[in-house]
Amino acid sequence: MDYKYFKNAVEITKMIMEKTISPGNTVIDCTVGKGNDTINLAKLVGPHGRVYGFDIQKTAIKLSEEKLKNENLLERVILINDGHENLSKHISVSENVSFVVFNLGYLPEGDHSIITKTETTLIALKESLSILVHGGILLVTCYPGHDGGREEMENVEKFLLNLNQKEYSTLKFQFINQINNPPILYGVEKNNY
Ligand code: SAM
Repeated sequence: MDYKYFKNAVEITKMIMEKTISPGNTVIDCTVGKGNDTINLAKLVGPHGRVYGFDIQKTAIKLSEEKLKNENLLERVILINDGHENLSKHISVSENVSFVVFNLGYLPEGDHSIITKTETTLIALKESLSILVHGGILLVTCYPGHDGGREEMENVEKFLLNLNQKEYSTLKFQFINQINNPPILYGVEKNNY
């Protein structure tokens, strides 16, 4: 049997993006990094959609800008060199954001000391959920294997599992038979009620 659907958190994220994002949508990548998710999002929203991308590292923003330019996707993307905890300073509820993605931790080939932090991650999650449209989706990949990563993951999980079930449906995707602390993906759907 093909080892296709349960590959890893990144691939599951991609699969959910493809199923839930439509041309014309407005979406957010809260951790641009090398721009892989940003590029996928830009393709999915099409020429009339919009992607907002946040990263605190100027080098990540510059690298992603270059990649997007090369793929002719830059016009539909607004790259913001600021922390995702400042999301509401840049994006308003009237933008009808339908999808938000976080890929926490550090850039694998970058400076491993620059990592997402519990406090700012939680602020960004709250701000994201508050601007998300009803029916919108938020995905967060957490990495419990690095210093501070498990604590961040536990706090993300605590926050998500306490969301009111009338307002949000939350899921945890966890490989339970893999070694070496595989990433854990959390999904939230903002309910129509
Ligand atoms: N999704 C990215 C990709 O496709 O390459 C990988 C993201 S990487 C795991 C995490 C990124 O989060 C890093 O580039 C780091 O600079 C960024 N980051 C850390 N703290 C942040 C914050 N407060 N706001 C926005 N980005 C942050």
